[in-house]
Amino acid sequence: MRAEASLFCRNRNSSAEGGPTDSERSSLRDYPGPTMRGEEQSASTRAITAGRSQQGASLTPPLWATSTWQTGGLDDTRKRATGLRAEQFYSRYANPTVRAFEEAVADLEGAEDALAFSSGMGALASVVFALCSTGDHIVAQRQMYAGTSAFLLGPCARMGIDVTWVDGTTPGEFAKAVIPGRTMLVVAESPSNPRLDLVDLVDLGAVTGPFTVIDSTFATPLGQQPIRYGIDLVLHSATKGISGHNDATLGVVAGERDLIASIWSYSVLHGACASPFDALNGLRGIRTLAVRQRHQAASAAQIARALQGHAGVAAVYYPGLESHPQYALATEQLSMMPTLVAVDLAGGVDSARVMLDALRLARPATSLGGPETLVCHSATSTHVSLTPEDQAAIGITDGLLRISVGLEDTDEIIADLSQAIPV
Ligand code: PLP
Repeated sequence: MRAEASLFCRNRNSSAEGGPTDSERSSLRDYPGPTMRGEEQSASTRAITAGRSQQGASLTPPLWATSTWQTGGLDDTRKRATGLRAEQFYSRYANPTVRAFEEAVADLEGAEDALAFSSGMGALASVVFALCSTGDHIVAQRQMYAGTSAFLLGPCARMGIDVTWVDGTTPGEFAKAVIPGRTMLVVAESPSNPRLDLVDLVDLGAVTGPFTVIDSTFATPLGQQPIRYGIDLVLHSATKGISGHNDATLGVVAGERDLIASIWSYSVLHGACASPFDALNGLRGIRTLAVRQRHQAASAAQIARALQGHAGVAAVYYPGLESHPQYALATEQLSMMPTLVAVDLAGGVDSARVMLDALRLARPATSLGGPETLVCHSATSTHVSLTPEDQAAIGITDGLLRISVGLEDTDEIIADLSQAIPV
């Protein structure tokens, strides 16, 4: 696998300094996102038209609820057992319902191919162990979902893969930490969990040498398309906005065909394959993603503005607010703003406790991107595995709450949050 992964390790960028040229940079900045692009369909239309090759005349793909297929004689069996992503052999290798979901994600991301997993963590673990071996080095940003950082700190360290942590919001930090010949992977997340910090995608795409992977869960494939910036792999916890109904646990990674094939050859052994049931829910989620995300992002912006004026709120983090330090970057690279808002309560953990108990419409729960507004206390849930010092280093105070804005009436969400936050 080490040798196989090395085959793909190359410098992709074309300027003399190793980064994209000025005209490449400005053409990336000009990418208009999910609106009409020349004669092509918009991303919101492609969310409806993509991933239909597996379904014939049926409007939704058939659910291939099978773990295996009957094969022919020895020659046929050998062909399927040794083929790349052989269809109709064994569902850990490939499944047509899962394939439909993968095709749709690849289309929306502007990627050649995609591969689905049983969860976002399944995708991350498979990518890391497909591409890295003992002695390799990873550069990762500090601001990220703590499950990902726990994986890089725990299993990776145990396997002799060491990690350098950088500030993902400072351009140049990823490239500076790369050790030529030893860094195999750069791991980024944008917008990051929980405070919605942004990585400059042009800066990340300019990193030469190692593979670059970005967790784009908070953006969804409609919010940004990192592959267009020269980033090698884009990863999602499709459990979240993509599936969008809190009824699937699913992950996906998209990128160049050969690189995805290389990850597939490892993932067949790793075994975190996607369930066809969840992939069906993932594809159903994609069909309605544009309308859901547009509504939830508009509500999130209104909620962020309303909470800025609340006496019990010390700070609001939402990159769609003009006052956010990365507002300019957000408007350049996000074609839809996020559907989450983070707030720091003035009364710290005591206020957080009171607020979670006082909610009448929104619910305390750890996930995002679904129809219900969910409020999550990062320090004791998603980021509980970090030490208080590591939490503080990425701005997670004991009064920080992450709000995943749902599909309820916006004014009613604002009224509920406002009455629940103590002053
Ligand atoms: N990436 C991000 C940004 C997340 O927020 C999460 C989970 O909360 C994950 C990855 C892991 O996804 P999953 O729960 O589907 O394994």
